[in-house]
Amino acid sequence: MSQKFDVVVVGAGPGGYVAAIRAAQLGLKTACIEKYVGKDGKQALGGTCLNVGCIPSKALLDSSWKFHEAQEGFKIHGIEVKGVSMDVPAMVERKDKIVKQLTGGVAALFKANGVTSIEGHGKLLAGKKVEVTTPDGKTEIIEAENVILASGSRPIEIPPAPLTDDIIVDSTGALEFTSVPKKLGVIGGGVIGLELGSVWRRLGAEVVVFEALENFLAAADEQVAKEALKTFTKQGLQVRLGARVTGTEIKRKQVIVSFSDSEGEQQLTFDKLIVAVGRRPYTENLLAPDCGVDLDERGVIYVDDYCSTSVPGVYAIGDVVRGAMLAHKASEEGVMVAERIAGQKAAMNYDLVPSVIYTHPEIAWVGKTEQQLKAEGVEYNVGVFPFAASGRAMAANDTGGLVKMIADAKTDRILGVHVIGPAAAELVQQGAIAMEFGSSAEDIGMMVFSHPTMSEALHEAALAVNGHAIHVA
Ligand code: FAD
Repeated sequence: MSQKFDVVVVGAGPGGYVAAIRAAQLGLKTACIEKYVGKDGKQALGGTCLNVGCIPSKALLDSSWKFHEAQEGFKIHGIEVKGVSMDVPAMVERKDKIVKQLTGGVAALFKANGVTSIEGHGKLLAGKKVEVTTPDGKTEIIEAENVILASGSRPIEIPPAPLTDDIIVDSTGALEFTSVPKKLGVIGGGVIGLELGSVWRRLGAEVVVFEALENFLAAADEQVAKEALKTFTKQGLQVRLGARVTGTEIKRKQVIVSFSDSEGEQQLTFDKLIVAVGRRPYTENLLAPDCGVDLDERGVIYVDDYCSTSVPGVYAIGDVVRGAMLAHKASEEGVMVAERIAGQKAAMNYDLVPSVIYTHPEIAWVGKTEQQLKAEGVEYNVGVFPFAASGRAMAANDTGGLVKMIADAKTDRILGVHVIGPAAAELVQQGAIAMEFGSSAEDIGMMVFSHPTMSEALHEAALAVNGHAIHVA
């Protein structure tokens, strides 16, 4: 006899595992199917984010930043450190330990909340049935009142740079280098390319980033993007804009990259090449032809604002549907869907999904950019505060970057917050909270901010919107 559940979730990434836990909390009999096998050969929950995405990349970013600081940042504080060296396998091992702790934590949360964890590949059949193929090749049919598809995404591969075992790699391979490449190429100047490029740059690699677009960080506010490019260039990241990679050739354990830019056809040779040109929805063998779920023209599962697919009772969330490919967006969709299944009226505010790039300085934003508002014909005021004028930033020797707040010219309602600099992600989250409550720039300006904090830069930017900033001329 097949098992029956109120909710079956396919995929245990930040979308799926959060949806499963919330559904179980709401009293729904819930199962979650996950096929991913970790380095130890056992099923690992947590999806891309915990296993090969957000968490491992941040672990390497933090380790490499500490190394960089020990080498170059301590001197100014009067701290002399001699003979600093980097043990790359130890750094990778630390990253693996964190991953294991967190993926094990998800398994514990499943247990504590009564989520049935099923190992195997899930495929949606007609009539809200899910076929599970277990690792030993057996199949079982599970019946569900509701199905949540949360199968995530995969790195995009490009014909000019097919992956090899250890020279041309995707983001997952770039988390596993056992030594610092002398010369590293990165195809793609987006979030992942910049974060991984930064890790290996800080550890001493000569890094060239190939970006096909002429604009750097096209999704970010132009002023912030300009500042970022200037800073990364100073750090030694060579960003080549308008550079289209046309081919690769492996020769004597190196890769020759052919590319064309405004100067014509060129070649550069690297020890490693990271392909980070984006991710695509992962729907391989997920949907039986007669299951009724529609994909759009880009292979994304079609859903409405509440993540309902074209089949009643079947939902899809996270990277496999439209919108930003971000863990927090996936998780909030998971909560929304679980609560709606339980009869609640949950909704998600897609206008306020923050974006973060965890380079140094961090880059983060929420809401509209100046260029978007111009295109929409909205009149606005801007307040900018540079970290160079922040006492806290000076004390931390971290004065690069700025906070920028954009507010509606008529109502003063905050429309966007953009930060490049220390604690950018945390400051932008403060902006997001304010925006969620419909705050004006003046509201933030009238609040008391602790001194000395990085947050004061947000306060001053809010004051600057209406020309009242105190600490900048
Ligand atoms: P996933 O996390 O991809 O999880 C989907 C899961 O479904 C996988 O475990 C997969 O094995 C499983 N699955 C797929 N098909 C099936 C099937 N048929 N049966 C059973 N199981 C299946 N986002 C951030 O917000 N912040 C960051 O700092 C950040 N850093 C990143 C760094 C890197 C290097 C990468 C690659 C990504 C990063 N992301 C970051 C993006 C983030 O990882 C994704 O947006 C997030 O993981 C999406 O969650 P998801 O649940 O939709 O899918």
